Amino acid sequence: MKFFDTHCHLQDERFKDDAERIIRQAISDGVAFFVCCGSSESDWENVADLARTWKQIIPAFGIHPWYIKGRSSLWKEHLRSYLDEFPEAAVGEIGLDHLHATNNHKDQIDLFIQQLEIAAELNRTVSVHCLKAWEDLVSAISLVSKSNVSVVLHSYSGSLEMVRVLERIGCYFSYSGAVTYSNNKRICNTAQSVNAGRLLLETDSPDIPPMGHHGRTEPSVILQINKAVASLRGIDEQEMAAIAYQNAITCFKGGNG
Ligand SMILES: [Zn+2]
Repeated sequence: MKFFDTHCHLQDERFKDDAERIIRQAISDGVAFFVCCGSSESDWENVADLARTWKQIIPAFGIHPWYIKGRSSLWKEHLRSYLDEFPEAAVGEIGLDHLHATNNHKDQIDLFIQQLEIAAELNRTVSVHCLKAWEDLVSAISLVSKSNVSVVLHSYSGSLEMVRVLERIGCYFSYSGAVTYSNNKRICNTAQSVNAGRLLLETDSPDIPPMGHHGRTEPSVILQINKAVASLRGIDEQEMAAIAYQNAITCFKGGNG
């Protein structure tokens, strides 16, 4: 089985001492590609370094809604220069969070739209964090939906009704370790029903530990996540892995595996 971890943070401090070992382990477990997402200007260079070292790493550059305050006045220039250096790079992790960050909605929306517009202009995939901000998300994405930008909703936690709305505007739905907990009814429910052509898998390493794991999450846990989604959908693991892998190739590599 081959896997494509569509959202992780290998540049995280928690991997500082043994990133190489973790990446080699994941590769030997079948992970062919990793989308390594930056969260703020301060970690973009570390993401770029990893992508310069590993051909399996697709970098993503973006400002996460939690870190919008720390951006410099030159953030757009910085973002564009990384996107120029890496023609395959995505834009992310960007998004809207009305659960944890509650007093800056307008700023979040402004910055999200600006980053979406850059992605649309350069024809890049975007990796999106969205918590409790679904209406605003749909309005923002609708602004760029006529372009070719593929939108990936990382660790999707919205409702099934929202899946149908977001499918119509071309979004992909990525499932993380959160789907391995059967008491996460809403997440398990959408993982079961989302259109097979729109389903992706990710680990969000080093965060979101799957059932039975404690501490830092590593990309190899994608096997467990694949197994959980396969069982929810009543298909075998091989079939599930092949579907998610092919969708990720289409979404992040324009179909060129
Ligand atoms: Zn993330």
